[in-house]
Amino acid sequence: MLIIVFILGLIIGSFLNVVILRYNTGRSLGGRSGCFSCGKVLHWYELLPVISFLVQGGKCRGCGSKVSWQYPLVEFATGLLFALVYSVFASAGGILIALYLIVASLLVVITVYDLRHKIIPDLFVFLFIFLGLLQAFFLPGSLLVNIEATIIGGLATALPLFLLWAVSRGRWLGFGDVKLALGMGLFLGVRNGLSSLMLAFWLGAIIGVALITIPKLLKKKKKGAYHMKSELPFAPFLIVSFLISLLLNFNVINVFLF
Ligand SMILES: [Zn+2]
Repeated sequence: MLIIVFILGLIIGSFLNVVILRYNTGRSLGGRSGCFSCGKVLHWYELLPVISFLVQGGKCRGCGSKVSWQYPLVEFATGLLFALVYSVFASAGGILIALYLIVASLLVVITVYDLRHKIIPDLFVFLFIFLGLLQAFFLPGSLLVNIEATIIGGLATALPLFLLWAVSRGRWLGFGDVKLALGMGLFLGVRNGLSSLMLAFWLGAIIGVALITIPKLLKKKKKGAYHMKSELPFAPFLIVSFLISLLLNFNVINVFLF
């Protein structure tokens, strides 16, 4: 079953690539995929997730131009996330599993879109917030208690980022990050919500320092190299921390108290 869910994830991942590339471009999600360089329409055997990329050595069979690593990475990441969600929530029931599979897909799209365009489209983040509210109706226990915990979790997690956004007038982070944190808190509740925020800052700091120092250590000086004033999109760190908290029930507060 786990292998089937993984393969389903690969196939969904290949659809997510289409969503990421065509969203806001005026192109519909239907229609055959083609090579960006030569326009060659791809056959079914050139559209197999991950496999086609590896078999063709990352090149178009028509013109030999390079195919972006984004394709196999997004496909593989989605497959892995699907398998993780399924193995963690197998006993939680079909509706919650389906909900978290949709959430995982949505977060893959938001992450890659933010890395490419440095913006989180409202449509995606509002859908995330809506699914966070929806989760309250399917959690075990009293509905009223669940709804209350959901809303308090969302507001408590969004508040620190909202304050940072307000104080810096949007220079330190974007309002999209605040909305994303609201959705995270709806899913995670207060404790794990705040914990995932902390984790996101740590990850951001570690990766940020690494991006600045490693090229210096390697004595590589390139245009577009990272420095102290570079803007690093924050959403990918929020999303990775959210997934760690959701899938591993990870809480940094517990790490200090164990
Ligand atoms: Zn081509």
